[in-house]
Amino acid sequence: MTKKTQLGKTDLYVNPIGFGANAVGGHNLYNNLDEEVGKDLVHTALDNGINFLDTAFIYGPKRSEELIGEVLKERGNRFEAVIATKGAHKFVGNDEVFDNSPAFLKEAVESSLKRLQTDYIDLFYIHFPDNDTPKDEAVGALKELKDEGKIKAIGVSNFSIEQLKEANKDGYVDVFQGEYNLLQRDAEKELLPYTKEHNISFIPFFPLASGLLAGKYNKNMVFNDLRADLPYFQEGVFEKNLEKVEELRKIADTKHVEIAHLALAWYLTRDSIEAIIPGAKKTEQVLDNLKTLDVQLTEEEIKEIDRIFR
Ligand code: NAP
Repeated sequence: MTKKTQLGKTDLYVNPIGFGANAVGGHNLYNNLDEEVGKDLVHTALDNGINFLDTAFIYGPKRSEELIGEVLKERGNRFEAVIATKGAHKFVGNDEVFDNSPAFLKEAVESSLKRLQTDYIDLFYIHFPDNDTPKDEAVGALKELKDEGKIKAIGVSNFSIEQLKEANKDGYVDVFQGEYNLLQRDAEKELLPYTKEHNISFIPFFPLASGLLAGKYNKNMVFNDLRADLPYFQEGVFEKNLEKVEELRKIADTKHVEIAHLALAWYLTRDSIEAIIPGAKKTEQVLDNLKTLDVQLTEEEIKEIDRIFR
């Protein structure tokens, strides 16, 4: 049984290897997803001690939360899972906008609770900042929901450092979720130092850079899902990224471990990163990512990986 780690100052204890569920019913993100496979991914995670599940209203939309809700119901043990979900997206006609107003966030939490078939959410994030709402007011609404027991911890995601500071004026932010991986390290400048100083847990998304850091791509790959638009995969950048991944492969080979596990293990050596949420589309990937916990990195290896991707 893996020792659970505490997320920042929250009462949430999770396996450092979580599960990002955007491919569970995330039909708006990936083509041809099978919902039964999606549910199997969640069962496999929970069966194998991965208790930290990351979803959002917009994955589907709604389907990821609904399928997780079905799995929770089937298993009949709500307490085995630490569920993180997110809201802020609103559909106005055909347009998708962000809303952080207290009224909207409260509504968003209520509808997530229904889809997840539960009476509490362990961690609720404001998924994206809007342009209008003062961020401390938005977080203030979540604090009220926390006091009512509807959510257990407060998160924000995709906020700039200024927005995070405003959101955390009263010290209520528990978790920050932002893009961070070996190929995208901007968060090291201000966000990671701030979260460390304020005991806010930092959950990096895209830890595998959508599979690129699993070392399985070559320059002839063609992508036709969300990856087609991601900066990592654009012509010129993609080739350079592959070269860096090949350098990582050398360290992985010497240690007789996989590249993906090496990258994932490296994040867990960073201050304020206590857990990661790699996504997966196959149950084998869910299980495979758990092998990260067997990787021990020396100080020299940590520095060498830092150098390759600096
Ligand atoms: P990721 O974790 O960087 O990459 C996941 C993808 O890598 C999988 O779908 C799979 O894709 C491949 N993969 C996973 N494990 C593997 C393994 N062991 N070996 C080889 N390939 C493997 O990207 P992500 O899933 O987009 O991000 C992680 C989670 O972060 C999401 O699920 C979501 O919960 C969250 N997220 C949050 C935000 C936000 O705005 N807050 C944004 C993005 C993501 P293939 O099989 O297709 O290669």
